[in-house]
Amino acid sequence: MPNMSMQKTPMPAQAPEVRNKNFDEVTLGYTPEMAVLEAQRCLQCKHRPCMKGCPVAVRIPEFIAKVAQGDFLAAYEIITSTNALPAVCGRVCPQENQCERECVRGIKGESVAIGRLERFVADYFMEYGTAASKRAEPNGIKVAVIGAGPAGLSCAGDLARRGFEVTIYEAIHKAGGVLVYGIPEFRLPKAIVEREIDSLRALGVKIETDMVIGRALSLDELGEMGYKAVFVGSGAGLPRFMGIEGEGLLGVYSANEFLTRINLMKAYKDEYDTPIIRSKSVAVIGGGNVAMDAARCAMRLGAERVYIVYRRGEEEIPARLEEIHHAKEEGIEFRLLTAPTRLLGDDQGWVRGMECVKMRLGEPDASGRRSPVEIPGSQYEMEVDSVIMAIGTSPNPLIRTTTEGLQADRRGCLIVNEEMATTKPGVYAGGDAVTGAATVILAMGAGKKAAESIANLLLPSPGSGENPA
Ligand code: FAD
Repeated sequence: MPNMSMQKTPMPAQAPEVRNKNFDEVTLGYTPEMAVLEAQRCLQCKHRPCMKGCPVAVRIPEFIAKVAQGDFLAAYEIITSTNALPAVCGRVCPQENQCERECVRGIKGESVAIGRLERFVADYFMEYGTAASKRAEPNGIKVAVIGAGPAGLSCAGDLARRGFEVTIYEAIHKAGGVLVYGIPEFRLPKAIVEREIDSLRALGVKIETDMVIGRALSLDELGEMGYKAVFVGSGAGLPRFMGIEGEGLLGVYSANEFLTRINLMKAYKDEYDTPIIRSKSVAVIGGGNVAMDAARCAMRLGAERVYIVYRRGEEEIPARLEEIHHAKEEGIEFRLLTAPTRLLGDDQGWVRGMECVKMRLGEPDASGRRSPVEIPGSQYEMEVDSVIMAIGTSPNPLIRTTTEGLQADRRGCLIVNEEMATTKPGVYAGGDAVTGAATVILAMGAGKKAAESIANLLLPSPGSGENPA
């Protein structure tokens, strides 16, 4: 029986005034009854428009049909045939710009809540499913993956499923990339990331942490160790600053540092020694997911006022809709069409305020968004005792500067062809290291594509009789 409700089945969440003081997950997920009800909103369109919006081509109508029948474990099998991290993607993908944007139900009402259903199925499996060992017959060919973020993990998983002997080299002490050091616990519980990584280990993927490639080992040394191909998924973890006066003051953070201290180094927990400044009035500069996460963390650390300062308007804010909505509910104040021009310090070298200028929207720029134009004479001061810069990141230069033959563009992003092959033979790359800061699912899609290219390179074509190992 189809459910013709125009609205998505609501998902329970912690009350805003409760959750803005804790780091527990904000949204609580569907019950099985809610999931079935929501799945019954899917019209099972023959032309499957939702799938076209998914960078890893999850078989969306098929998995939703299983949810509607109450066969949640079969739904999980369908999702994981193309997506290695469904509990993560169900929580953090910008569905409104991808699968849900294409959903026919979205024309006259709200689209089917595809993300919430994906999350439900993945969580249900973690609770009740048992992972069957899906180890492929080993082919004896070694491949190295650099970076254990979504790009590296998805590439490694796909290669392991094809029988390759895969080792991931990760610079920090934990696998997960931004999923563990950037996105906060209240949006993506770290236990869930660990469970998803464990399922990759179960496929035979080895993960070596505390290994900075370009320092501990070079790319060429990996070749000497017998790796027949390398995938570089080293992300874009180098923070950008605005280049304005006062950015060296105490109390000014990059969002990367602020979020790493909180999420990876657990500065919000009393039993951890990680230092963090607890401020009264915090300005976060930027309008993406990173800015929302930093602002909501600052609020949870006890700030009385937290501002998002963004130079364009509401329509141009790039963060996921749900994050903007949750941030507002939690009391974050939005200062839109506003740009900082100078940070002001006290005589001890601490930030005490920020000079801003008001903006208006002009003509669209290269990104297609209307560009911000300064309104002359509109300067004013905001009183803040912490400023967090969340205006973007670039790829870390370490790997490209220590590897001969690996070319990057002027933004420092590695250059790849359609097969995700870099300019150095046998070396592939994908994710934020290639695109600059983007999304989890795009990074995963790139990792998958590279895995396919590596398999095409290293596995003998059927009937050739060759053995490249
Ligand atoms: P990363 O996740 O950055 O992983 C790269 C890994 O490589 C890291 O673990 C790093 O330590 C490791 N590494 C780097 N250099 C080396 C080296 N030399 N040797 C060995 N290892 C190395 N996207 C969404 O879709 N939805 C969201 O809600 C969302 N929110 C975000 C919130 C924050 C705070 C941030 C920072 C990003 C967010 N993103 C979001 C973006 C998304 O997380 C990234 O696009 C995605 O993680 C990129 O994946 P990646 O594997 O390319 O890189």
